[in-house]
Amino acid sequence: MSNIGVMGDPDERGHFGDFGGRFVPEALMPACLELEEAFRDAWADPSFINEYRTTLSQFVGRPTPVTPLPRLSEKLGLRLYAKREDLAHTGSHKINNVVGQTLLTRRMGKTRIIAETGAGQHGVATATGAARLGLACTVFMGEVDTVRQELNVFRMELLGARVVPVTSGSRTLKDAVNEAMREWVTCVADTHYCIGSVMGPHPFPWMVREFQSIIGIEAAAQLEELGAGTPDLVVACVGGGSNAAGIFAGFANSDARLIGVEAAGGAAVASGSPGVLHGMRSLLLQDEFGQIEEAHSMSAGLDYPGIGPEHAYLADSGRAEYFAVGDEEVLDAFSLLSESEGIIPALETAHALAWITREVGALIPRGATVLLNLSGRGDKDVAQVRQLLKGES
Ligand SMILES: *Cc1c(COP(=O)(O)O)cnc(C)c1O
Repeated sequence: MSNIGVMGDPDERGHFGDFGGRFVPEALMPACLELEEAFRDAWADPSFINEYRTTLSQFVGRPTPVTPLPRLSEKLGLRLYAKREDLAHTGSHKINNVVGQTLLTRRMGKTRIIAETGAGQHGVATATGAARLGLACTVFMGEVDTVRQELNVFRMELLGARVVPVTSGSRTLKDAVNEAMREWVTCVADTHYCIGSVMGPHPFPWMVREFQSIIGIEAAAQLEELGAGTPDLVVACVGGGSNAAGIFAGFANSDARLIGVEAAGGAAVASGSPGVLHGMRSLLLQDEFGQIEEAHSMSAGLDYPGIGPEHAYLADSGRAEYFAVGDEEVLDAFSLLSESEGIIPALETAHALAWITREVGALIPRGATVLLNLSGRGDKDVAQVRQLLKGES
């Protein structure tokens, strides 16, 4: 295993320990190398950083606050705080990454952006960022998901994007990523592929983590200001792992325990094994023959059969710990936060809270200071939750 630091940069070929790398067809290699060079250059350029920060403040609404949760804290016997990514424009942390990648697209002189989307959240964020900069935008979405998430398809179209239904494979997120990569090979000269999480070939996992690290950097300073100091635990839900990587980045060099919470039906750390998918070596849900298995979760944002390679490394090294929670606990947590604090969370986020409520007095000592990354708002999920709670079909 290479000797990298905690939340340090990957090695020159994009490895986080045994994971990561760049497993792409020959034809995509130049695009990945060009992107890496452009990102390194931009991330060292104060004028780019300034533009990124200014956009986050003027367009996204950053900094998002850290909110103490006193009623829920009292119920659980904890000191609980939430980092409010639900208050960011378009309703989740995804826009932070999109702002970075759209600015980078323009800086590279490219005029078009493509993206994959599952439930449509990353597609909507990408269409939003593209509209702001006047970039053409195409979003690949599994045909099954375009039917399940009709309203998000319309949102993307309103924002001027073209949505392409993907009819290969299981016609869901995994196939949308494959299709976006296939498309990218044919148009790298004028097109950037905006991956939506800390996954894919190098430099994506590293670059996306850097664009999301604003979450943790802000939160650490805000907790100091609130007099809360360093939290005992930092807890985030994990699909591909971008909101978790973003908040972990602010606490990697502290004593805080870093906790990632996966959906039981998509738990790449608990149930996965090492393999290669979508340009990276990581932990994946696969059968004994290396066939990728479908993830199953009530929250579409966690329905990915893998995890970003840096998380696989953090799990391996023990610096971060990963747990899984089931759908029923998640529904309880969804209601609990809504009723006790007046915040309706995304179903993805409710996974992180479900783990906290389950483990108080067990893995979490009573009285502990806990920072929850509130990755997104629940507006998109209320119809689904209503059906589940009311027992409607
Ligand atoms: C997409 C999404 C996630 C999962 O993605 P990560 O890359 O793991 O952060 C979590 N929460 C919300 C609200 C999302 O929209």
